[in-house]
Amino acid sequence: MSNATKPAPTVAVIGGGYAGMAAAVTLADASVRCTVFEAGKTLGGRARRIEYRGEVIDNGQHILAGAYTELLRLMQLVGVPDSSLRRVPLTLSIPPDFLLRARRTPLLPGPLYMGWALLASRGLTISDRLAAIRMILALKRAKFQIGGSKSVATFLAEQTQPQNLIDHLWQPLTISALNTPLASASAQIFANVLRDSLASSPEASDLLLPRVDLTALFPGPAAVWLAQKGSEVRTGVRIQKILFTNDQYKVFSGAASQYFDVVILAVGPHQLEGLVTEIKSPALAYEPIVTLYFKFDQPVRLDELMVGQIDGLAQWFFDRRALGSNASSLHDGGGGLIAAVVSASGPHELLPQETLADCILSELKRHIPDLPAPAWCKVVSEKFATFACTPDVVRPDVTTSNRGIFRAGDYVAGDYPATLEGAVRNGISAAQESIAYLQTVEPIT
Ligand SMILES: Cc1cc2nc3c(=O)[nH]c(=O)nc-3n(C[C@H](O)[C@H](O)[C@H](O)COP(=O)(O)OP(=O)(O)OC[C@H]3O[C@@H](n4cnc5c(N)ncnc54)[C@H](O)[C@@H]3O)c2cc1C
Repeated sequence: MSNATKPAPTVAVIGGGYAGMAAAVTLADASVRCTVFEAGKTLGGRARRIEYRGEVIDNGQHILAGAYTELLRLMQLVGVPDSSLRRVPLTLSIPPDFLLRARRTPLLPGPLYMGWALLASRGLTISDRLAAIRMILALKRAKFQIGGSKSVATFLAEQTQPQNLIDHLWQPLTISALNTPLASASAQIFANVLRDSLASSPEASDLLLPRVDLTALFPGPAAVWLAQKGSEVRTGVRIQKILFTNDQYKVFSGAASQYFDVVILAVGPHQLEGLVTEIKSPALAYEPIVTLYFKFDQPVRLDELMVGQIDGLAQWFFDRRALGSNASSLHDGGGGLIAAVVSASGPHELLPQETLADCILSELKRHIPDLPAPAWCKVVSEKFATFACTPDVVRPDVTTSNRGIFRAGDYVAGDYPATLEGAVRNGISAAQESIAYLQTVEPIT
């Protein structure tokens, strides 16, 4: 068959999380048609909308950073309004002792800006502040290459970082970014995060807090945009098997099947098993994240949009109403809505959900002394929230042993820990590899 009569190549993207949707948008932007198959009813995977008692919440409270350049670019491409994110200069508030608040000033570019924020912070001694600045400068001199496979704890000890600084700055940043306890978190990946956020431009260190649910933040608008480009997104379709036959990949879902030229596997790492005979789930360990939502009939406010603590089970509380998330509420959206985040493994895993909710509620009372009783509490537990980002973790590549099959997802080899930006960057790489592969088998017209 000549190129003139042969149908245009098609790509199957298995998984409608942030990685799969980023891959699909990148393909469609290059005029390659694709079909996304998502097993769930809602797009977004580990970052998706949940509805509970008339309230739109998420499977977990997420924070983005100004350094998430690729996700922000794709959000703009598919038409997500800027108002969907609340952008604030980096603020770490751990009352009553610690407050770091970066402030925009045109006179202080890049790392100087963060140095100034550290010097102006509350709750650190002079030697804490100087130790933090010294470490960032040492990392900069080393081009953010740590060398060897070290944990964050080992690296901080080598850099003689004081305990007060570790407790209030490095530990909260490590847990938030890597979702892995300090003693086992990769120092190199942590250095990559510092390079692209704290030690980069002032905007890169900004916190970007979602004001809409996580499906509406990117995967939902991406699906609408893809339909306009002639691609398809099918939710509620679980792919069971993919076989190579007649020079194409046959993708099976139940009794139905469809042929594609290329397949992008954008499922979670623990969901790979059995899809393609030769491709196994990578040997990764996982870290959980539990998010507890407390709904109050009365208005309830935190002093900041997000408030941290270093001596409880939860690391952060978020004031969802102050964020403006009430815009996405199904009914009245009144009262207060607080999300509490318990990241990584820890003693909370031994507690029944009701006991955990009681403990976290008493921790919340420390921040809001006249806290009323909640109307309800919803506990969302994600056991496979992220891979454990340890120094010796081996992450598979985008390419696989099967020609024409590529991996996408937050666990695929890259500079970033398991984050939305990591997922999106690997999704884009998988799409670019697919396009390059299709060009070797036939030109894209
Ligand atoms: C509670 C929680 C809090 C987090 N907080 C943050 C944060 O603050 N900031 C941040 O940047 N990151 C955060 N993350 C990490 C971030 O959510 C993930 O890194 C990212 O969503 C992973 O996206 P992904 O597309 O790689 O995988 P997934 O989101 O897991 O997508 C895989 C998709 O494949 C689908 N699927 C699986 N098998 C099949 C099949 N056979 N057929 C069809 N579909 C299938 C699944 O249903 C899923 O939708 C958090 C994660 C969790 C769980």
